Amino acid sequence: MPNTNEHRIEPGSIVKLARIDTDGKERELAKADAEAEFKRLRDEFIEWQPRFYAEGKRKLLIVLQAMDAGGKDGTIRDIFRGTNPQGITVTSFKTPSADELSRDFLWRIHRAVPPKGMIGVFNRSHFEDVLVVRVDKIVPESVWRPRFDLINDFEKLLTSTGTTILKFYLHISQKEQQKRFQERQKDPAKQWKFSADDLAKSKKWDEYRAAYDEMLEKCSTDHAPWHVIPADQNWYRNLAILRIISATCKTLNPQYPSGS
Ligand code: ATP
Ligand code: MG
Repeated sequence: MPNTNEHRIEPGSIVKLARIDTDGKERELAKADAEAEFKRLRDEFIEWQPRFYAEGKRKLLIVLQAMDAGGKDGTIRDIFRGTNPQGITVTSFKTPSADELSRDFLWRIHRAVPPKGMIGVFNRSHFEDVLVVRVDKIVPESVWRPRFDLINDFEKLLTSTGTTILKFYLHISQKEQQKRFQERQKDPAKQWKFSADDLAKSKKWDEYRAAYDEMLEKCSTDHAPWHVIPADQNWYRNLAILRIISATCKTLNPQYPSGS
């Protein structure tokens, strides 16, 4: 049985991403074995998901954060391939609109939280409001700093009312990010994903790192812990995440309602 807690950030611990490996190589897992286990777990997940939907009682929220080119899109594609799209909602959070900015920062997030029976995926999330907003000084510290507590309280509200929250930070090295940027620039199918903004953000790597360190420290809670997933190798990333989702499904153990 794999240890699904190995990437969990213990609430209250000090986080230094620079000291956490990005490739998963230390874990002595062969790629072929990992891919076989991933396929098996995904087949199981494809069975769990309609049960979750049919039971219609609980909600599962999966939050993905990463530096640019960290693999959020690929993770969603790989893990949810084969599931029934009717039971899944994916929300990508971009720069807030004028309407969104005229509300509190959690307004657009709360609206996107999955209802009963649904699995919701956040591609970026409320954590942008203590990351890009902090690094780019979009609001002053007196505004973003209280958000750590506000976010923890918000997530407590969700978990207390039937939502299970799984938060994954896809941890890539700066070298891997550069490699992926180059691939994006070369490959006609990926060029659209590349923007000058990516390079500007990459120059602020250390500032983002510091913002992520503190966010992971302050917002990994018992009710909604963070997992830092080594993500330089897609096959390792996919398996590590699916193992955690799979263990969660087993614990929730959703059941088909009996016919009347
Ligand atoms: P990809 O990795 O494929 O480029 P992406 O998630 O980066 O996908 P983009 O459309 O390139 O998608 O970028 C979305 C942008 O929106 C990001 O730069 C992100 O930092 C920004 N953003 C998200 N939420 C907020 C927020 N609350 N405030 C300011 N900017 C935000
Ligand atoms: Mg981008």
